[in-house]
Amino acid sequence: MDKFGVRASLVAIGLLVASAGAQTPVGAFFGTQPGENMPEDWAPCESIDIDLRGGIEDRAWPGGVVPYEFDANVNSTNRNRALNAMAEIEAVCNVQFVPRDGEPGFIRLIASSSSNSSPVGYGGGGNAINIVSWSWRFIIVHELMHSLGINHEQSKPGRNQYVTINWDNIQEGREHNFAGSGLPVLPYNFESVMHYSSCAFTICSCSSCPTISARPEYAGAESLMGNRSYMSDGDAGTLAFLYDGPDVGDDAHEPNDSFAQASPIEPGTHALIMGDYEGDFFSFTLTETSDVTVTVTCDEGAWEATTSILDPSEQTLASQNNPIWGDGDPVTATLGVGTYVIEVDQDFGFHPYQLDLAITPTASCSDDCNDDGVVNIDDIDCFVADFIAGNLEGADCDQNGVLNVDDIDCFVASFLAGCP
Ligand SMILES: [Zn+2]
Repeated sequence: MDKFGVRASLVAIGLLVASAGAQTPVGAFFGTQPGENMPEDWAPCESIDIDLRGGIEDRAWPGGVVPYEFDANVNSTNRNRALNAMAEIEAVCNVQFVPRDGEPGFIRLIASSSSNSSPVGYGGGGNAINIVSWSWRFIIVHELMHSLGINHEQSKPGRNQYVTINWDNIQEGREHNFAGSGLPVLPYNFESVMHYSSCAFTICSCSSCPTISARPEYAGAESLMGNRSYMSDGDAGTLAFLYDGPDVGDDAHEPNDSFAQASPIEPGTHALIMGDYEGDFFSFTLTETSDVTVTVTCDEGAWEATTSILDPSEQTLASQNNPIWGDGDPVTATLGVGTYVIEVDQDFGFHPYQLDLAITPTASCSDDCNDDGVVNIDDIDCFVADFIAGNLEGADCDQNGVLNVDDIDCFVASFLAGCP
């Protein structure tokens, strides 16, 4: 569990930092403008960054154990809602929320009339988590994740490769909300529950004055921003990074997480596919023997991945390991009629990538007995001639070293199965 092996000293450090009192507000507003068709309980989120050490592991709760208590002003319905939010987190990492029994480090959930907020990370004392949006489970998850040590996704170092912060569209005095201090780990995740919507703190309207735009290569990713409906694979992975945990489970929002759930994919370029720990699976069908090339590329290096082509019985037909993303070495195979599955297996996470699938009918096949580039009746004559002549090379279709009637059946079946 102790991934970093340094937690023993963290309690003391945390207490020092907490007692220093130097807290930096990094408030977050992830709704639309007030009055702009907001859900009635959609409210600003403010977080307090108590991690002043710049570390990653420093923010984690020792042993993943988080004692909790409720303020007396939280009713039983909302207590159950909070427990459901805790369960979402416990399902994807080795965090345990336990009723507080006098521990000095704990979280306290408080009913607020105006805002959602939480400190970021473990500080050795009490983290006051204010909630107003009780009916939004993943807003509670968002605040709990702050307390677990996770800042906003768009604060992640390197975010400028993925998004553009439109500083001129940000309300005056709110610029600090877009400053970076997030975890410098794991790929950028547009659909994180920790990501702002594209119009957070906008000066006018969401459509006219977005504060966060996706970079052109991720066009359309704005629609993923501000997710408060489900735990994305990236969020689960971030939690698992900090607290270890089981392999990230299937994401119900990605039907391509298993061989059986392979998503049909057409030939061509498919950009901005969100990878995950489970691997991504795509199926395609060939109506004639073809040369197939699958190329997976990424805009930055260091995310190891293996791309494979599998047959219907899940046997690997061809595979390419790219130790460094961006090399994009293709996987190639010549395949007959049938349905196949592409697997993209990233060893480390959920980096968005581009997949190119090229299918070209194969120019010739083994049934082109006379090697004229066309399979037709002349090739039957050719096969028969080889067969009569006892030419094993030309007529031993089943390659068992003997010429007999089985080879005629084999040739006919192969011929009918389809060549160009
Ligand atoms: Zn927040």
